[in-house]
Amino acid sequence: MARAWNLVSRPDGMPVLENFALKDLPDSPLQDGQFRVKNTWLSVDPYMRSRMSEAKSYAASYALNEPMIGGAFGEVIESQNPDFPVGAKVAHGLGWRDEAVLGGPDQMANKVPETGLPDHLWLSNMGLTGGTAWMGLLKVAHAKEGETVFVSAAAGAVGSAVVQLAKAKGMTVIGSAGGPEKCAWVLELGADACLDYKAGPIEPQLAKAAPEGIDVYFDNVGGEHLDAAFGQAREMARFAICGMIDRYNDQSPVMMKNLIRIIPARIKVEGFLYPDFMSDIPEFMKDMGALIAAGQVTSRETIKDGLESAPEAFLGLFTGENMGKMLVRL
Ligand code: NAP
Repeated sequence: MARAWNLVSRPDGMPVLENFALKDLPDSPLQDGQFRVKNTWLSVDPYMRSRMSEAKSYAASYALNEPMIGGAFGEVIESQNPDFPVGAKVAHGLGWRDEAVLGGPDQMANKVPETGLPDHLWLSNMGLTGGTAWMGLLKVAHAKEGETVFVSAAAGAVGSAVVQLAKAKGMTVIGSAGGPEKCAWVLELGADACLDYKAGPIEPQLAKAAPEGIDVYFDNVGGEHLDAAFGQAREMARFAICGMIDRYNDQSPVMMKNLIRIIPARIKVEGFLYPDFMSDIPEFMKDMGALIAAGQVTSRETIKDGLESAPEAFLGLFTGENMGKMLVRL
């Protein structure tokens, strides 16, 4: 019997394990055009927090007592669809479960090419995570060789890809992360400096690491990090606003004392979503594939085993349990 995690209550602040329940999925004989995938990897992502609430966002809220969805990777085990034969490997959007029936009109499923890359990379550096890093850095912030880039949550999935992409393209990179172990890894990835935001306020650390200022801020965190970046931005700096994880479980007001620098420094601030850049995916895959093959972009995963561990893996994103991409292996 296939099973899926359901959302059974909505969190107030930080989500808790009691918000989730693992339930059997109904029997689902295949219709014409459908195929069944046995999931082998599940992605957990910070954006899922917004889907747990009823507040308006770009992705629809999870319905209560219904199977949740999210990124997943698996192998076709039964098929009524000649384009997805048994044995095909598929990246798709029906995660949080051990088996997925796909092939419906609005279900996204992509057969992955035979590249020899490890399967889970299609949920990290070759998938949404790496794509978000690449699009944000190059297509939103238009970061260029010789520039100074500041990236927050630099030991996370998107952040660690940004660090490596920026170094590969000749930039000076300052990362920030929570704790000395994470900062040591960010430096190993090639960053020129790493700021431990848990060791002290971020603004003076950034001012010391970038005395000439920053050209680009890749924001994964929001809050004080964003304010510090405004304080240190050079003229005509570009901010790619990717995420604000500091705010996802905390609605209290944040003081932005440096916001006014947007005007004299003419800072360009642009929020973006990965799906806005579908037409750039072939270019991303070619570039990222080449950088991975050349060893210029490496990946690290924090892996939880078993479908049962998915909520715990998800919650770990908000307490910084992961280095690199948080994944669930089935
Ligand atoms: P991740 O960085 O792998 O994991 C989240 C990390 O955030 C944690 O490891 C933790 O690292 C840090 N964190 C958690 N709470 C924090 C806080 N209060 N202050 C500072 N850091 C905190 O997650 P990811 O999947 O790569 O996502 C990173 C960001 O990108 C998120 O904001 C996410 O929503 C966003 N995102 C946006 C898009 C898009 O299309 N715009 C797509 C994917 C992801 P520390 O131990 O260093 O605190």
